[in-house]
Parts: sequence; structure tokens; C-alpha cells
Amino acid sequence: MEDAPAMPNVFEVTSETTGVELIDGPHGGFPTDLLIQFTFVRKHRWIGIGGQIKEKQPTSHDFRAIALRLDYPAINLLQDGESCRTLIRQSVMNSIDGLGETMGMPLSHWDKAIPEGLESLIVELAHDKPVDRAYRCEVNFTLNIEFSYCEGAALLQGCILSARECYVCLEALAPSSNVMYLPECTHCYHVDCISKCFKKSATCPACRQDYYHLIPEEYKRLGQNMRANDGV
Ligand SMILES: [Zn+2]
Ligand SMILES: [Zn+2]
Repeated sequence: MEDAPAMPNVFEVTSETTGVELIDGPHGGFPTDLLIQFTFVRKHRWIGIGGQIKEKQPTSHDFRAIALRLDYPAINLLQDGESCRTLIRQSVMNSIDGLGETMGMPLSHWDKAIPEGLESLIVELAHDKPVDRAYRCEVNFTLNIEFSYCEGAALLQGCILSARECYVCLEALAPSSNVMYLPECTHCYHVDCISKCFKKSATCPACRQDYYHLIPEEYKRLGQNMRANDGV
């Protein structure tokens, strides 16, 4: 998954652990189960240009349970905080992705969907457990996703995405690049590109607007004097 949002959706994601349990199974009995249970609360807010705001309070608290059967030796996964967290995050994503507004939610937000430190609590319970046993690991948490549809943010993104290309090199004018808008015709260029053009001509390469008058008068006089003195 890419970390760039396809839509300018604004997300507020919070989650909180409500309980972690590791229950011993029978000796030699496999497999081990990881049970991920979470209460999922969704909230919507619509913010239009002009200040209209519509909020939709959560209508239901959606309870979800994901049962995963881990491969032997499953305890290794529970003892490895990062892998365990990644597995939980992936499972939660698979469970609730595609609900429309979560489409395009960046990975950094999905990570917030899993409570901070949840994996450490699991590691704490699992770190000294022998491998030849079955376990049932239950994690419980709450997950809140507040989704804002924001016309102003969409407009800003639209402007950024439709930023034109440089008329000289025809490459996109990324917001981060050094861009210059000529003051009268507003045609835009990379500073480096227009700087090269201005060595050949004082006109805008796109519309031929003449910018020679923007050279300061005293500078022009200096040039005239130098040419006269050198007899050029
Ligand atoms: Zn350019
Ligand atoms: Zn121009």
C-alpha cells in the first residue's frame, strides 16, 4: 500500500487497549490462536466551502472479532513485538478497509488504529513461555476513526495537482521545486529554466510578454556607460 492518500480525506484515528490475555493451552496441543477483538466507532464530518459543517455522530459501535490460527511455533510470533503488531494491523486493515472513506487512508494512520504499546503487553506475557504449548492470545481494544470530508482540502490538493508544467523544460512544477511566476503574464517556470532563457531574450517564452522594463534604470545606465567607455 502506498503512503500517499488518493483523496484529500482527513482522518483522526485513535485506539486504546482494553485488555490483553494469554491463556495456556494443553501441553503439546496446537495450534495457537490469536484473537483480535475491537470495538470500532466511526464518526463523519462534512466540511463544505463557506463554512457549512455537518456532523454525523456514530450510530453504532461495531464489534469485530478476528480469529487467527498461528503456525507453529506460534509463541515466537507473540514474542516478537514488531511482527505481531504488523500482523494485527494487517488483519484490522483487511477487516475494515474498503468502507469507502477509509480508502486511501495512509499507512501511518492505520498504524494508529493499533494501540501504542499493544505488542509490548503481548511480549510481556509471552516472553518466557515454552514453544511446545498451545496458547490463546486475546487482545481487546477500541478503535475510533473520525473521517472528515473537507472541500477546502480537496480544492487545495486540486490546485497542487493541476499545477502546470514548466513552459521551458515541460517537466511538472512540483510544489517543492524552485518555481517562479512571471509578474505580469503569470506564466510559470523553474527558476533555473527561466534564468537560462533570460540570457537570450527578455520575453516570456510562452507568450512573448516583454520584461525588459523590469531591469532597473540605473543598471541599464551603468551598462550604457560601460559600453561607451569600452568603445564596444
Ligand atoms: Zn523547467
Ligand atoms: Zn508569459
